Amino acid sequence: MDFVSSNFLCEEGLEEKQIQIYYDIYQGLGIAWEFLGLQCKHWDGFKKVRRGKKACKICGKLEDMEEDYYLLGKGQKKRIGRKVVPDSKKTFKNRKIAELLKDSIDFHGASIAVDVHNSYRARLGKMDRDINIAAERTATLKESGIRCSIDQHLIVIGLEKTKRKTKKPPYGGFPWEIRKNDLKHFPVIFQYDDEYNFLGLTILR
Ligand SMILES: [Zn+2]
Repeated sequence: MDFVSSNFLCEEGLEEKQIQIYYDIYQGLGIAWEFLGLQCKHWDGFKKVRRGKKACKICGKLEDMEEDYYLLGKGQKKRIGRKVVPDSKKTFKNRKIAELLKDSIDFHGASIAVDVHNSYRARLGKMDRDINIAAERTATLKESGIRCSIDQHLIVIGLEKTKRKTKKPPYGGFPWEIRKNDLKHFPVIFQYDDEYNFLGLTILR
């Protein structure tokens, strides 16, 4: 990497096209280096570095660092983790033991969070005893003020900053429960086939 950097990338007067080629080589070497780092078993032990930390003599990884980072290709589909779903019928004592995954990523301005847990007991709000929280896998996407969360039972889309004049809790209702005139406030288009099977919906902003 140093060789490519000092012999080619730092050279002045290179054409844009050539720079791109050397840049790609540099990136490729970087990924290979990371991959080799993942293979390192730190056989030669650790040496002291700054602030009392210790780093591997071979790959330079800090001794107390968690070793679970990912190789992400540039310009390709990125894959982080695998699909985790609830894996037990048991109800656990608390959320911490029941938790299988709670992770999130900010990806080019969109935020994605995945929360997976088995069933557990918890006390909600002002209740005086524990209740069973069902096992669940929830994925949530937040993008430009809109929040969409998906679990096994529901797809919920919410506008995060809707200006509301009243403090009353929001209402909810099936379309057929709402008067036709009031329905006109909701810019929702239902998609369905000729047998009225629900295919999806579009919301106009
Ligand atoms: Zn190492």
